[in-house]
Amino acid sequence: MSRYWSAVVHGLTPYVPGEQPKLDNLVKLNTNEHPYGPSPRALEAIRAATSDALRLYPDPNCDALKAALAKRHGLQPNQIFVGNGSDEVLAHAFVALLKHERPLWFPDITYSFYPVYCGLYGVDHRTIPLADDYSIRVEDYLPQGDDHPGAIIFPNPNAPTGRLMALADVERIVASNPDAVVLIDEAYVDFGGDSAIGLVDRYPNLLVVHTFSKSRSLAGLRVGFAAGHASLIEALERVKNSFNSYPLDRLAIAGAVASVEDEAHFQESCRKVIATREALVAQLAVLGFDVLPSAANFIFARHPQHDGAELAAELRKRAIIVRHFKAPRIDQFLRITVGTDEQCKVLVDALREILGR
Ligand code: PMP
Repeated sequence: MSRYWSAVVHGLTPYVPGEQPKLDNLVKLNTNEHPYGPSPRALEAIRAATSDALRLYPDPNCDALKAALAKRHGLQPNQIFVGNGSDEVLAHAFVALLKHERPLWFPDITYSFYPVYCGLYGVDHRTIPLADDYSIRVEDYLPQGDDHPGAIIFPNPNAPTGRLMALADVERIVASNPDAVVLIDEAYVDFGGDSAIGLVDRYPNLLVVHTFSKSRSLAGLRVGFAAGHASLIEALERVKNSFNSYPLDRLAIAGAVASVEDEAHFQESCRKVIATREALVAQLAVLGFDVLPSAANFIFARHPQHDGAELAAELRKRAIIVRHFKAPRIDQFLRITVGTDEQCKVLVDALREILGR
């Protein structure tokens, strides 16, 4: 605290990112990074971009990346917005598209950055409880008479539950709320869901946000994008150009373009994570864990006889870190990132020892 702080800063409750410990030899399963590296073509492109040209500013419009993403998703470049990680894309969306007189609706258990952006940008919001099985109930997001939202946001699959909403249900929410922007945060969709990007040509109120941090294994590069109607994208550009004209540096643009162009690497690396996830879910079930159905690169699991916080602490003693949230309804769960097969084996062996099996 300081008397020099603005009133806004006094009122903030900042997001707390998962730990990035500086220790080697940890089995790090806490921040949903991809266990295998990015496309070798992306690394090569980043190396090639490491040249004297770095003295020049990058392309403020990131035309090459927008063109690559538009081609990949069958859209026009003016339907794509890119940013410094999807967190930045989301932040701009909160100001540009989600802040209205009526409240923004999102689930009570979801990506914890949403309430933080509401705090930063003064967005009135309503949290809607998940169903008892931790799914998002479609009916809760349909207007009831005069009760309709200013905008809607949720991740699909949801975080930290990993539960997927069927695309037909996403479409029902979008179609039922023509007066509200519906933002679907698809950070994890490549691990088992159908993307709503294919719907953006039909719904001018739909914005879909993706990240390169998970399925493209480029969390360290900080690239995310949004796909939507050109007028929604224009709103994001207006905010971006009132904030930072050059959010993506030359290395990020080069690496991201090459990643998008390496479809084979992308498909294969997602497939491997999905296969490991299914094996991990089966092994945890044998140990007595309840595991929510996951379409993400993490799972959300609890043990009926063992406290979540204690399990996380015991794993930590064995140099394995997973994410535990001290929050109502989910404090018995562990959120475990799907690592390599070897990392998952170390995890399962440690849990077996902790549970005395
Ligand atoms: N959305 C969700 C649901 C996430 O879990 C994350 C990762 N913390 C993000 C967005 C942001 O990802 P990034 O900024 O790395 O693109």
